[in-house]
Amino acid sequence: MKYVNESFTVKTSKRLEIIDITNNVEKIVRKTGIKEGILIVFEPHTTAAITINENDPDLFEDLLNVYVKIAPIEQRYRHNLKYAGVPGEQNAHAHIISSLIKPSVTVPITDGRTQLGTWQRILFIEMDGPRTRGVHVKVMGE
Ligand code: ZN
Repeated sequence: MKYVNESFTVKTSKRLEIIDITNNVEKIVRKTGIKEGILIVFEPHTTAAITINENDPDLFEDLLNVYVKIAPIEQRYRHNLKYAGVPGEQNAHAHIISSLIKPSVTVPITDGRTQLGTWQRILFIEMDGPRTRGVHVKVMGE
């Protein structure tokens, strides 16, 4: 059994943004040479998330619109009141969305390739950008 850890950064340019990171991740998987195993993609932040879905800019807008309907940016949150006046800390909406979507995805690797479906892509969800974000990739297998 082999374990490989790699990280890369994602530079987001908007407050709310979805970025397709599949190519970065698949490049790492190919480099490991692992043929059969499991891939974990994990982001270590409390105001972002990772999901798997279709890469369509209109769908990205739809998703972001629904997220901020669930947790509107402008709402009376205790977290925001506590940090009133602290730059960058009016972000309770982002914490809530991050906790609902989760920070990681797991993908099986078979024959040296991820088993993502035809329309499936690994998506980084920024809810409190712009920021530079880290993504950790762990590939286990042989
Ligand atoms: Zn916060």
